[in-house]
Amino acid sequence: MKRKVVKSEEEWKRELSEDEYRVLRKKGTEAPFTGKYHRSKDQGSYVCAGCGKVLFSSEDKFDSGCGWPSFTKPTEEVEEQRDLGHGMVRTEVLCPDCGGHLGHVFNDGPAPTGQRYCINSVSIKLKPKE
Ligand code: FE
Repeated sequence: MKRKVVKSEEEWKRELSEDEYRVLRKKGTEAPFTGKYHRSKDQGSYVCAGCGKVLFSSEDKFDSGCGWPSFTKPTEEVEEQRDLGHGMVRTEVLCPDCGGHLGHVFNDGPAPTGQRYCINSVSIKLKPKE
């Protein structure tokens, strides 16, 4: 996929916090129930913490109880790819513009999509509704 935002490792390291870099660029995971947004009900758009692309809406957010912010769908298409790491078969979710790791999507979400986009708080930033 052609990226709109391409930066060197050095640039990402300089611009992101340590946690953002570890999750977005190194595919890390924040510990459950520790992030900023898993319980948030604030209205607005969630943008990529790496590049600012709008990724999710508070309208599609639901309380999954899993400890990470969860959405039934992305605002627009996100990049999804098979992840065979950690002895599991999962679907990784990435920002289409910068390739940043966001989290994973599972098939155990509520209607209408049945999907659960399980996203690291550190990978996104809430832009409150004006
Ligand atoms: Fe991004």
